[in-house]
Amino acid sequence: AARASRGVQGLRAYDPGHDLVAFRRKFGEDNLVELGSNENPYGPSPAARVAILDQLHSLHRYPDPLGLDLKRALAAKHGVDVGQILLGNGSHELLMQLAQVFAGEGDDVVYSRYGFAVFALATQCAGANARVVEALPRDHAAMPLGHDLDAIAAAVTPATKLVYVANPNNPTGTWFGRDALEAFVARIPDHVIVVFDEAYAEMADAPDYASALPLLARHSNLVVTRTFSKAYGLAGLRVGYMLAAPGLVAVMERVRESFNVNGPALAACEAVLDDAAHLQWSLECNAVERVRLSQALQQRGLRVFPSQTNFVLVEFGANTALFEAALIAQGVVLRPMAGYGLGDCLRITIGTHDENQRLLAALDTVLG
Ligand code: PMP
Repeated sequence: AARASRGVQGLRAYDPGHDLVAFRRKFGEDNLVELGSNENPYGPSPAARVAILDQLHSLHRYPDPLGLDLKRALAAKHGVDVGQILLGNGSHELLMQLAQVFAGEGDDVVYSRYGFAVFALATQCAGANARVVEALPRDHAAMPLGHDLDAIAAAVTPATKLVYVANPNNPTGTWFGRDALEAFVARIPDHVIVVFDEAYAEMADAPDYASALPLLARHSNLVVTRTFSKAYGLAGLRVGYMLAAPGLVAVMERVRESFNVNGPALAACEAVLDDAAHLQWSLECNAVERVRLSQALQQRGLRVFPSQTNFVLVEFGANTALFEAALIAQGVVLRPMAGYGLGDCLRITIGTHDENQRLLAALDTVLG
């Protein structure tokens, strides 16, 4: 460990919260209610499987190193040039490489408390200094635990190279809208790269939610990251992408690993982009269940933080660990939040109607 770089010495390996493999063995994969990882319970468009089968005859070939067909489809979808898109092995990879490219030893990276965990990881691996900005307070009327964009902008100094914001954010589920977004971007100097992590953007349907995508045309220092892991249901294939000005994308290309997105994954992503109906259906199911599950949890006396994602952060109070253990004993896996400094909360992925019912039933045995 002494040989690792200074940033890496202070790190611990990623902890998914539970030994899911052991749970699957114990309960059987079909009996386990896995609501810990914000996966899409409806799965991808069936077209993904067809596209992957079609790839099986060419597994001995390297994939298109640039993923041009997928980039063309994404460029058309978002109304940008192909040169404004970079593909990653999950958006996680891109978030890491952004810090690697734009922040080094002695530089500052700014992000919010309770911001997505990879922001801290990327900053530390790059050897940069984390400037963690306090989130909006728990008793904030509109957006408890949300990003305090004013405070984030105020934390930017000449030493700042990178700012990460997630909209909506994981694990809080919080978001912000057009006015806040534009006022924020206007306050950030050009020498700072601002990364908008929009992994859950497709799921946001609140009128006061806004993506940063329309701002890309006017600002060469902005990056938006998206993923196929959530709304498109392809978490297992590991594909994310970023959009930015062509010059910024070209710099990122220098550190991209060759063939970082595999052939079956590229084909499946193209296929799911073509199936708008499946996407729409799964988004509607999620939106309905998000409201229903939130209300059911509130009716049981639990505080549910507002969310525009496929999960909710829920306050269980002093007995959180007991709740978690009792639910696990019944085969219901949620995500503990102690690592985020939210030890009195659990994060619950919105499952199918059936899964959510099983969660509520398990919860009632504990509450009753
Ligand atoms: N950003 C956020 C906010 C996330 O919650 C996640 C996944 N948990 C990611 C990025 C990374 O997703 P992926 O690497 O699968 O694209």
